[in-house]
Order: sequence, then C-alpha cells, then structure tokens
Amino acid sequence: EALNKILDVKGSTRVFCRVRPFLIADKRRNHEVICVRSEKLVVSFGGSKKEFGFDKVFPQNASQEDVFMEVEPILRSALDGHNVCIMAYGQTGTGKTFTMEGTNNLPGIVPRTLKELFDQASTDSSNEFTFTLSMLEVYMGSVRDLLAPKPSNRIHHGSSKCNLNIQTDPNGCVEIEGSLMLVYPISHKQVDGTIKESEPDLHRGQILTRITVGRSGGSEECMEEFSKLWLVDLGGSERLLKTGATGQTLDEGKAINLSLSALGDVIAALKRKRGHVPYRNSKLTQILRDSLGSAFGDDSKALMLVHISPCEEDSGETTCSLNFAKRVR
Ligand code: ADP
Ligand code: MG
Repeated sequence: EALNKILDVKGSTRVFCRVRPFLIADKRRNHEVICVRSEKLVVSFGGSKKEFGFDKVFPQNASQEDVFMEVEPILRSALDGHNVCIMAYGQTGTGKTFTMEGTNNLPGIVPRTLKELFDQASTDSSNEFTFTLSMLEVYMGSVRDLLAPKPSNRIHHGSSKCNLNIQTDPNGCVEIEGSLMLVYPISHKQVDGTIKESEPDLHRGQILTRITVGRSGGSEECMEEFSKLWLVDLGGSERLLKTGATGQTLDEGKAINLSLSALGDVIAALKRKRGHVPYRNSKLTQILRDSLGSAFGDDSKALMLVHISPCEEDSGETTCSLNFAKRVR
C-alpha cells in the first residue's frame, strides 16, 4: 500500500482543497453551502451548483492529522531525493496559517514535517541524514530572513541588508545568499522554539520555510545536499478592489497578487511541458524554481492546498480560489 501511495504521487502537481469550519465570528452560521465528497467539491451559492474536482478534499471537520496523512507520502519523496514544494493558497482567514503552522495543541504541517523527518532519520541505520532549516519572508518584492536576530528581520525596520539576493547556478539550483539556517542534529524543542520566535504569524508577506535534506550512504562518502523541501504560506489571495484596502495594505496586497499570478503562470507553463517557463517574474517563483520543476522535470513534486471559506458572503473569493485551483491542476 505504501508503494502504491508513492507511485500515486509521482509526476504531477497535486491540488487539495480544505474547507474551513464555521467560526463563532461567522455571521451566517446556519448556511451550509458546500458539500464534499473525497475528490469532489460541490458549491451551491445562490441556488446555482458547481462542481470542482481535486486530488483530495478536506471537509470542515477534517483534523490536522487527516491533512498530514495525505501530505506524508509527498514528504517522503524528499527523503528519496526529490525536491518538494507544499503551498497554502486562499483568501485571508480561510486557514492557511492554521494548516501550515497550526497551534500549540493542533500543530500543522511544518512542525509535523520536521518531527517526521527527524524520526525517519533516527530510525534509518543504513543512511545518515543532515537537515537544515531556514525561514524567509517575501514582502513587497524583497526577501527577509526570519531567523536573523531581531530587529533586523522586522518589516518596519527593514534595511536593504534584509533584501537577500537570489541566484541560480548553471545547473538550475537556486541559492539564497546569506540566509541563516539551523543545522540538524537539533532537538525538536529547539526547532519549535525557533519557529515560534520567528513569529511567522505576525508577518504580512509570504512565509517560506525551507528544509534541505543531506544524505550519505556510508561513512566514507561526504554528505551531499540531496533534496529541498519548501513549505509555503502564500498570503491572502483576495481581490483588492472588493476589500476596499488602501495605502500600505493595498500595496502589500498588490505585491502578493502579482506573485500569485506569476506562480499560476509558472505552473501553467510547467503543465504544458514545453516552451518558456516565466520564473523570473516574481521573487516567489525565483526562489521556488528548482522545487516547482526545472530542467530536471518530473523530479520535483508540488502540492497546492487551496483553502476556502464555508460562508456564503465569501462566495466571490471562493469562486476565484476554485478557479485558480482548476488552472494549476
Ligand atoms: P489565514 O492564514 O488563511 O489568514 P488563519 O489560519 O489565520 O487564516 O485562520 C483564521 C482563523 O480560523 C484562525 O483563528 C484559525 O485558528 C481558524 N481556523 C482556520 N482553519 C481552522 C480549522 N480547520 N479548524 C479550526 N480553526 C480554524
Ligand atoms: Mg495567515
């Protein structure tokens, strides 16, 4: 069964959908608008029904474990040498941060992934693994290091030094200049502490967590970088005219929207499997280049987790997010 799961994830962008449960703050709690089967989402807003196909749909009552169980086979392919990219997409307030970071009691994909990788590494007697962890924020077109000592990583104190350079080597491998990293072996507690201290939730850009995996089969070989795993909170996808945003918030939203459409263009081009792939159009796609797909083609695995609201008043944004999902799947 494990083998089937691995074969199953080979060679495509997978798109999952997670429907946020109703919250106390939601005004129209009595209005159940979305019905779900495991690979199909049926949305009925204002009397008209539409169906959307996904690789997997998580209904409102899906737990963090349910989500992680479906993500796990893709993570394992990072230990087999594939570059992996898991991205959370959706309108603000639909649960992207909940899915990626989670809470103390309900940890999300990032802490679970680290635990899973460390556990796997400690039980594998024939290979030795090393891991590094980096955390970045892409904010208004510049890249910040969230592991750098404060206050230099703070948005409003940002100097040009915080704008890390991104380079691609002749083999298509992406290097982020000067970003800090933690190196395994480190305790799980230490990692959790670092993530909390970097306060991903307080930042307003896109949060990118990178784990690199190094592996050596015997003691005489030296450790080589083996694969890269990106876990990305893509930021709010909402259309700005509708939100009435102004000033700084409007500019932040515009920057996020630009990078999301650049991401959509890159994935669409990769799906066509020929022609130019416009990686250079945003910092986000430059950074993720070698994990979204490259000269090495099918070696990379991408997973998009599209988050939607269950509320009828969000139906416009929900429709936009579902259309994005359709485009990249
Ligand atoms: P986003 O990052 O997309 O803006 P958040 O992750 O901050 O959204 O979620 C908004 C609120 O909804 C938070 O209070 C979060 O705890 C809650 N929430 C989101 N998804 C779930 C879920 N699946 N179960 C319980 N609470 C959730
Ligand atoms: Mg968030």
